[in-house]
Amino acid sequence: MTPPDIDRVLFTAEEVDARIAEVAAAIGERYRGKDLKLIGVLKGSVFFLTALARRIEIPVKIDFLAISTFSARPGSPGVVRIEKDLDEPIEGQDVLVVEDIVDTGLTLRYLLRTLAGRGPNTLGICTLLDRASRRLVEVPVEFRCFEIGEHFVVGCGLDHKQLYRNLPYVATLRRPDS
Ligand code: 5GP
Repeated sequence: MTPPDIDRVLFTAEEVDARIAEVAAAIGERYRGKDLKLIGVLKGSVFFLTALARRIEIPVKIDFLAISTFSARPGSPGVVRIEKDLDEPIEGQDVLVVEDIVDTGLTLRYLLRTLAGRGPNTLGICTLLDRASRRLVEVPVEFRCFEIGEHFVVGCGLDHKQLYRNLPYVATLRRPDS
């Protein structure tokens, strides 16, 4: 049953699954013969990362990190901090950071700078959703499943107050500000 707060389904579970399969195939092509590691950013990317990894037909390793963002002053840009670091080094590996959504790009810019300093062979980004219209800093998104507009979305790992991550579709909320 659809939760009452859900307004409009933007991408159905079938559309999400089909698109993830396409992107997984493209990743398999790109990284064939390489030492691919998927890095998930907790918690939002967990659902997307596992769905994606199951469809990739080359060997992959996975690792996770957790970050927090806080603003020093209300309205000032968020400062990103690593709360849980990767378990393993990434030196010499082909790393794909897997995100739920790239919005302003600030979180990813911080992450990419941090990870680049650890000497990976390559460092790329794969995101379920890309909201390029809100980008404040340039980040190289190699793989994206869907472009979305301004609306706040939930589902497929994305939450509102920790709810709705488990919805198999991407949807807008009836009262996104409550
Ligand atoms: P960025 O640094 O690119 O602005 O931040 C991306 C993060 O903002 C995402 O990982 C996610 O946690 C959060 N975010 C941005 N837009 C949305 C949205 O529409 N829905 C949800 N649930 N989270 C969002």
